[in-house]
Amino acid sequence: MTRPRLLFLSLGGTITMLPDAGGGIAPKLGAAELVASVPELAGVAEVEAHSPYRLPSPSLEPGQLVEVAKRIEDGFAAGFDGAVVIQGTDTIEESAFLLDLLVADDKPVVVTGAMRGADAPGADGPANLLAAARVAASPEARGLGTLAVLNYDIHAARFVQKSHTALPSAFASPLAGPIGVVAEGRPRFYARVPRMPGLPSYGGPPRPVALLKWAMGEDGRLLGALPGLGYAGAVVEAMGAGHVPAEAAPLLGELALRMPVVLATRAMAGPVFTRTYGYAGSEIDLLGRGLIPAGFLSGLKARLLLGLALRGGGGQSTAAAAFANYR
Ligand code: ASP
Repeated sequence: MTRPRLLFLSLGGTITMLPDAGGGIAPKLGAAELVASVPELAGVAEVEAHSPYRLPSPSLEPGQLVEVAKRIEDGFAAGFDGAVVIQGTDTIEESAFLLDLLVADDKPVVVTGAMRGADAPGADGPANLLAAARVAASPEARGLGTLAVLNYDIHAARFVQKSHTALPSAFASPLAGPIGVVAEGRPRFYARVPRMPGLPSYGGPPRPVALLKWAMGEDGRLLGALPGLGYAGAVVEAMGAGHVPAEAAPLLGELALRMPVVLATRAMAGPVFTRTYGYAGSEIDLLGRGLIPAGFLSGLKARLLLGLALRGGGGQSTAAAAFANYR
């Protein structure tokens, strides 16, 4: 029987890390070594492994993920049936969402990593790699966009968040839960998510977007500096359903006259409201001042969507159209 062909791309992360001469662990292994360490992969797929980067994931840049998206699209055009992207867990929720937006093909793209180093007792990398490959090789995973597979959970890119600094069970989808599980060696899907309209992978890296988390007593004095710093837009992680102190609302309104400003929430999950609270600094006040609701997207994901949407030089209406699908 012909095995599915999978493209493995390793970007680095703890899953590739071994003790470093300078102390601590650092990226060392490449995709080929990771694949060789899991002989069971040969029973799942024919794997071609490449290591475009060997970085800790905080040093990954969105533009590098745009390149990865292109490479995956080229791989699919060349006949690969699925792709597995291996990287550090710190930024998986961002990379997975970027790939979800950028890879147009319906073939599965799965992002995975590990919470424990490659030589740590109980290293979770090998099990995560095998589970990711099983999902990427599965026809059932087609049409679901990019998925994150860790600890046997299958998460949709739009929902997944890193929720713990240490545990192998660090990944959660607080809004909707995981959409499936890998059990007895096969993926089982309990929910299907529709694909959202994508953005082209050939349009270059996202424009710079500032991400601001609002806190009690913050008056917004930082906002006036943003246009002069070269930002093309801003995302505000506001309180609760989308609220800031009354005194900050006019400043956000002024900023929204100069660049698209998206209203997200600092709460772990749930949509930003649009028509419930009417006080100064409420979501009705802020949307009336031109802010764009992020819908259910986290601030991290909203920042990436806004940065990609603004690549063509678009402004307020382009940004609003991009977020309309996430309400
Ligand atoms: N700091 C590491 C990274 O993101 C964490 C990990 O991979 O789990 O590269």
